[in-house]
Amino acid sequence: MSKKLKETAVPKKIKVFTKKKNRKAEPEEKQIEKLQENYKNIDSSSIKQFSDFPFSTSTQKGLKDFGFVKPTEIQRECIGLGLQGYDILGAAHTGSGKTLAFIIPILEKLYTLRWTRLDGLGALVITPTRELAYQIFEALRKVGIHHDFSAGLIIGGKDLKFERNRMGQCNIVICTPGRLLQHMDENSLFDCVNLKILVLDEADRCLDMGFEKTMNAIIANLPFERQTLLFSATQTKSVKDLARLSLKDPKYVSVHEHAKYSTPLGLEQSYMICDLDQKVSVLWSFIKNHLKKKTIVFLSTCKQVKFFNEMFCKLRPGVSLLALYGTLHQLKRMEIYETFCKKQAAVLFATDLVSRGLDFPEVHWVVQVDCPEDSDTYIHRVGRTARYHKDGESLLLLLPSEIKMLEELESKKIPIKKIEVNPEKLKNPVRKMEAFLASTPSLKDTSQRAFVSYVKSVFLMKNKNIFDVDKLDTVEYAKSLGLSIAPRVRFIDKMKKNEKSNKIIKFNDENESSDYENELENETKSEYDKKDFSNFYNNNDDDDDELDLFNVTNRDKEIAPLKPEELSQLEFLKNSKSKKIITKIAAAKKVLKKNFVANKKVVFDDEGEIVPQTTKEKQSEIARNYEKTQPEVSGIDIETAKIVLKEEDRFDKQLFKDKVKAKKKEQKKKLKLKRKRGDDDEEVDDFDESDGYEPDLSWLPDPDKIYGKENAEKDVENDKDEEKQKIRKTKKEKVKKKKQKLSEDLTVNEAEELAMLLLNKK
Ligand code: AMP
Repeated sequence: MSKKLKETAVPKKIKVFTKKKNRKAEPEEKQIEKLQENYKNIDSSSIKQFSDFPFSTSTQKGLKDFGFVKPTEIQRECIGLGLQGYDILGAAHTGSGKTLAFIIPILEKLYTLRWTRLDGLGALVITPTRELAYQIFEALRKVGIHHDFSAGLIIGGKDLKFERNRMGQCNIVICTPGRLLQHMDENSLFDCVNLKILVLDEADRCLDMGFEKTMNAIIANLPFERQTLLFSATQTKSVKDLARLSLKDPKYVSVHEHAKYSTPLGLEQSYMICDLDQKVSVLWSFIKNHLKKKTIVFLSTCKQVKFFNEMFCKLRPGVSLLALYGTLHQLKRMEIYETFCKKQAAVLFATDLVSRGLDFPEVHWVVQVDCPEDSDTYIHRVGRTARYHKDGESLLLLLPSEIKMLEELESKKIPIKKIEVNPEKLKNPVRKMEAFLASTPSLKDTSQRAFVSYVKSVFLMKNKNIFDVDKLDTVEYAKSLGLSIAPRVRFIDKMKKNEKSNKIIKFNDENESSDYENELENETKSEYDKKDFSNFYNNNDDDDDELDLFNVTNRDKEIAPLKPEELSQLEFLKNSKSKKIITKIAAAKKVLKKNFVANKKVVFDDEGEIVPQTTKEKQSEIARNYEKTQPEVSGIDIETAKIVLKEEDRFDKQLFKDKVKAKKKEQKKKLKLKRKRGDDDEEVDDFDESDGYEPDLSWLPDPDKIYGKENAEKDVENDKDEEKQKIRKTKKEKVKKKKQKLSEDLTVNEAEELAMLLLNKK
């Protein structure tokens, strides 16, 4: 599976063989001219089959190869306009063939422009989800198989380096907004100056607040002169959106605008009113009753999807269960997507990641366990079934408090009928669930997270007429998930407290307000207003990701309720008459006045006595006095400093001598001990010659000097006594060796200390 993904990743040459060599350039040019001439005369009403369109032979062949004979309504209306170079706003029911309505114009446009690899990026298709991008990429590969363009799939969760190196060679790129912008920002090989055609699939989603900043940045990077095609089942008509895209005289094609319903005719839709704690048993009973069907179950958060999948897998309903949500690894997502495509009967638990554009074959049922955030989301969710003239069914579970959703659906021309749950057929797996939770702590954790994420999601819904978190019976809901106690939802406690504290600040403001308060409140208010909770659902990220997306962590910080002491501080600030600004220098002076000794380390021995830090503290009286008087004196008194150094040097030398002596003593002790044991004769012999010899080490650290002097004196006195000289020489060598050995025997710490002393001296 992963292998396949890698293969189909970026870039893929649509056609592996090149153009026929015997085809001369001249006829091809003429052929293109003829095609372009014919574009002007396209009359959509006279088009019955794809062969009636003036397409290139490569496109015609591709369509034929994959059994596309008759164009759908949206294809018939849009392709002609696309070939004529118009900007298009295309709207049609879900599953009505919008993909081909923009793929064909892309292929034809690049063909007539005689686009080559050297021309770079010619067409860009942006979609909101990776799965949809992959699906479009596959459709392009099919229809464009006889063309000679290279295409790339640029989506997150894949190897950026791999994509980067090949980006420059792509003629057609299918991508998600985030990844595209990443390449625009970081990839020097990505160049879109030649771009001729831009397509936004699920355009309303691409242009909504969730992708607003990313899309604005992308659009700013694209050439102004281009053709732009927008497609969606719930098309945006927002003037603001269209202005952002700088559409030029766009053609609005909405083939089902005057249709009786806004959902496919083959779709049978029903809803059921049920309490929150009944949802699990209704869903379980539904699955048990539809074991031979292919079903998509929509839930509002990733954590719920994870929990339902894990728990129902344990309960073993007798049908394959799968789960698809945003926080899964990309390869896993693709694997699940393909597995579900191939299944005849299965249940796919999913977030709204799956709601847009995905074309799973033969889906019988769409069950919405959690109410969608709005009617558009409803349309997209149910659109996963009853695609391309097929039939399908959908079921929506509504809480009694969510009944107003029906009005929204009605206003959008959605035919939906009420059905009642048959209590006799209802099976409740809660006892088993409780047992599983008791035996599997990780599952219990998942269950608690699912609970919290659901309550949060309801709280964050924009439409407060439909979604009211206070009306949720959380205790019963927790029980229905197998939990004995409802977990605390701290997020909501915080938000509620915050609302209250906002009110307190406002109240204070009415009397008198300082700049500080105004700033605080404005910040708080704007952050609160800015919240686009729709992302929470559309991006389907886990709680942690939810926090990233909304910056809830930051938001929490910014709008967290003030503690009493903070409030009193605020009061103090407000009442304070002195508005003197405290500079850094003033603050530093204040600290200096307190006579703090910064970073002083005091070491105690086992008896609790202070161990003097000989390397850091001055030893001599003169030096100590000098240090004390130093802060008051500006500059350095060199003469005094010299005396201090000399004095300290004396102490350092003495310290060094003591250390060497101590080391020597220790060594001797060890040797004596060893000798007593008689465990190593050779070693004892080695040291035997030096054993009796106890040199006076007071002459250290400069033995050369001392010995040199002594030798010179003795040379004068006993000129002819060569034997004695020899003895002295060997003695000197021995001492030298001893000294060398001693310095080698110093531990790293001692050596370091020694080095420090010597350095300090310098
Ligand atoms: P779409 O709305 O583009 O996702 O297409 C929905 C389904 O209809 C896909 O499975 C397409 O393969 C199929 N489809 C689209 N156009 C045609 C066509 N002209 N003839 C047959 N099948 C089509």
